[in-house]
Amino acid sequence: MSGPFAQGAAATVTQDEQSGRTMTNLLNLTLPELEAWTQSELGEPKFRAMQLWQWIWQRMARDFDTMTNISRPCRELLAAKACIVWPEVSAVEESRDGTTKFLLRLEDGAQIETVLIPSDSREGVRRWTQCLSCQVGCTMGCTFCSTGQMGFERNMTMGEILGQILVAREHLGDTRLHWPILRNLVFMGMGEPLLNLKEVMRSLESLNNDKGLGFSPRRITVSTCGIEKGLKELGESGLAFLAVSLHAPNQAVRERIMPKAARWRLNDLMAALKSYPLKTREHITFEYLMLGGVNDSLEHARELAPLVSAVKGKLNIIVYNAAEGSPYQAPSEERILAFEKYLWSKDITAIIRKSKGQDIKAACGQLKAARQKDTAAADADPKNCE
Ligand code: SF4
Repeated sequence: MSGPFAQGAAATVTQDEQSGRTMTNLLNLTLPELEAWTQSELGEPKFRAMQLWQWIWQRMARDFDTMTNISRPCRELLAAKACIVWPEVSAVEESRDGTTKFLLRLEDGAQIETVLIPSDSREGVRRWTQCLSCQVGCTMGCTFCSTGQMGFERNMTMGEILGQILVAREHLGDTRLHWPILRNLVFMGMGEPLLNLKEVMRSLESLNNDKGLGFSPRRITVSTCGIEKGLKELGESGLAFLAVSLHAPNQAVRERIMPKAARWRLNDLMAALKSYPLKTREHITFEYLMLGGVNDSLEHARELAPLVSAVKGKLNIIVYNAAEGSPYQAPSEERILAFEKYLWSKDITAIIRKSKGQDIKAACGQLKAARQKDTAAADADPKNCE
């Protein structure tokens, strides 16, 4: 991959407030980049980079002084030239069901969200899935999505994307290298991953390194609303499973609810998915958000079935929760069950996903939107004027 600077992303170097010196945030370097940097900036051999890599990603160190297997002069040089900057936690909200949402502040003040979703095994062991953001806002403007209504600010860097995982692991006290409790990652938070492909691919490569965070591709899902550019590269990399936010069984409904995504016509998207490289027992997961009176009829299920069957696909049905001021309604229980039953009758694996974290605005972009609203209200409140 190319160098550490992503087009449209925040800079990967930062300025030290006291000295005014430019510092490199090491979270933004892939292992090969860190090796090159260690040699050129520190005059140290390659293995030093591996030591640093393990301190950063496995031991979650933020202070060079704690890196006791690195000599003091080298640590001093590191402190003069580099930093390790995590996203800052602005707010944490925990739902009754355990779902935990973080509002994170990035170095330039931009805010993003990440969510931890629990699942308990039959033996009562709790594991977690983390939903990651990859852009500040989103250009796609899907009409049902809070993030889509906020507009787009910028791409996130690799360090900001992976920094979300460090924050979550620290929150969970998850320091185990083997069998960690943070099991799975889904790129389903703010932003469209294929529109920040360079940084998302660098993140996936770094995640895959077993001396770092060590997430194998089987534990990562990248979800896209269907962007032509980048789909092939993601598939060929084999670095993650694919999920496609379909949400509509035909072009007309897609144009109505996902007008920008629908510019790549449904027929063309499906044709591309037919040639998407899948390993044995691998599927494409289709996400289908059921919106009352929009895409939830039996006729819609009839149109949807051949789309899902045309590829090795399975379907996640997500039931829309109408929030205050939202333009859509939740579908009725009766319609949801009839829809699911029809799909199963066509041998389609269709799972109704329970909504988690309803009491904490866990859907993508809701917490940031609510906070922005609160801030705007406070700003407009005469009591707050000096
Ligand atoms: Fe963007 Fe995804 Fe929201 Fe659509 S659903 S606006 S692609 S974040």
